[in-house]
Amino acid sequence: MATLKRNRWQVYTGISGKYDRTEHMLEALTEMVVETVIKAEKIHKNCYRCFAADRLAVLNAKGDFYPCEILENRLIGNVRDWEYDIPSMLIFPAALDIREWARTCVCTWECAINMSFIYQPLQYLRVVTRALSNTISQ
Ligand code: SF4
Repeated sequence: MATLKRNRWQVYTGISGKYDRTEHMLEALTEMVVETVIKAEKIHKNCYRCFAADRLAVLNAKGDFYPCEILENRLIGNVRDWEYDIPSMLIFPAALDIREWARTCVCTWECAINMSFIYQPLQYLRVVTRALSNTISQ
């Protein structure tokens, strides 16, 4: 299993057998994201902190700005109406409501789950611990 993952990552990055610490960290992060996706699907409860409408948002070709790819019914606004000022859009009360609401929302969208690890420094320790554990067990 570890060999398969290593080969996949080598193909993906062009690394050819050379030791790279980031490889272990990204592998650990990917494993943790996949585990969280499975957990979210199983328990249908919020099991990670979602940063939608905070650190994560989606902008489509028409300029419509959404908290995430899933919530197409929760439009924050159109950037053209805001003179392309996304930071101001994100502190508008409608966006703040969505941001607060997203904390209790749950889905299996990997991008949101990745963000939940990246923007919570305490999670770094879990990623590092997993990476070290994977390295030792190889
Ligand atoms: S949990 Fe998923 S659906 Fe809910 S706000 Fe976050 S990314 Fe969107």
